[in-house]
Amino acid sequence: MESGMVEIPVKVAVRIRPLLSKEVLHNHQVCVRLVPNTQQIIIGKDRVFTFDFVFGKNSTQEEVYTVCIKPLLVSLTEGYNATVFAYGQTGSGKTYTIGGGHIVLVLRKFRVECADEVISLLESGNAARHTSTTQMNEHSSRSHAIFYHQYFVRKQSCRVSEKILMLHRIHLGKSVQTIASKFHFVDLAGSERVTKDWKILAKRFKESVQINSGLLALGNVISALGDPKKEKVYIFHTGMPKITRILKDSLGGKCRTVMITCIKPSSSDFDESLNSLKYANRAKNIRNKPVVNYNPNQDRIDEMELEIKLLREALHNQQVGVSVSHDLNQERARISSLEEQLTRLQVQCVSYRNCVDEAFPISG
Ligand code: ADP
Ligand code: MG
Repeated sequence: MESGMVEIPVKVAVRIRPLLSKEVLHNHQVCVRLVPNTQQIIIGKDRVFTFDFVFGKNSTQEEVYTVCIKPLLVSLTEGYNATVFAYGQTGSGKTYTIGGGHIVLVLRKFRVECADEVISLLESGNAARHTSTTQMNEHSSRSHAIFYHQYFVRKQSCRVSEKILMLHRIHLGKSVQTIASKFHFVDLAGSERVTKDWKILAKRFKESVQINSGLLALGNVISALGDPKKEKVYIFHTGMPKITRILKDSLGGKCRTVMITCIKPSSSDFDESLNSLKYANRAKNIRNKPVVNYNPNQDRIDEMELEIKLLREALHNQQVGVSVSHDLNQERARISSLEEQLTRLQVQCVSYRNCVDEAFPISG
């Protein structure tokens, strides 16, 4: 580990959505629940899992935001990259949790200045996202959505003194550093198993194969990164689906990451829910090494740059001073030589005038 880098685990949250009205109508039974006053979940009779955060069927978006997302936003302003990604079976609540049903697919870049512009960007992009009705989710997302937000802030150097800052302003034209941190919101596409969702058409089938190969690769990455015995070096490779490569920095990289695993409560989804919980449990072992996106040595470099600049200026002034005094001496010498010549000429002139005065009466 590089010095100064602290390893922190990926934070893992689990959210269980309520039974939907159609599930209630079909008399589905709940097979997963929270253990009160703990961060634990029980699935089936006795399979217990512990996570960083757990949210039950009555949890609100605000609660999830405050607990999971807000701390990441604070980190973002400090210069850390951050990622929130939702994982889970199709229809488990990923889109609901990440985007409240309004999710953008614009992988293009826009410059935004305020929150309203971000929201309208999200809303306009919602139309671009392709959803379809599958047997398991009426609005199944047919593509992964990644909302990538780059945040620039001019941060005042904290180490340098006021005097140095003022000198920086005057001499280097800068008193602040720019940090540029990235925020990824990732809402994965539906991951229904093809066999279970037997009504999907050929097109859906093709999409499902693509989506599922991405999710399978991602699942394998989570599994491998979360396995303390596995060698981590070759986990990501270029042949992988794009979604996995995009998440490279978020899983085992330099990012602060929260994974929100969404779970359906119905006993008819027991296998998938158990599987998702196992992945989530594995993901707790993934360790990241977050780093601030500006060089902490920059202050020292700035100070040294300034020192060199000031020394150069001093040297230049000295040289100018020397050459000025050099020129002045030359001028002085020249002036005195001219003065001497002038005196000599004046003396000669006087003697010529005397000669002329003496010669005048003779010639007259
Ligand atoms: P996914 O993106 O995982 O496929 P969705 O977010 O589309 O799933 O959710 C499937 C359905 O469940 C939607 O009708 C959504 O409104 C509903 N839903 C999901 N999570 C919740 C929740 N926490 N509370 C209420 N309804 C939810
Ligand atoms: Mg979705």
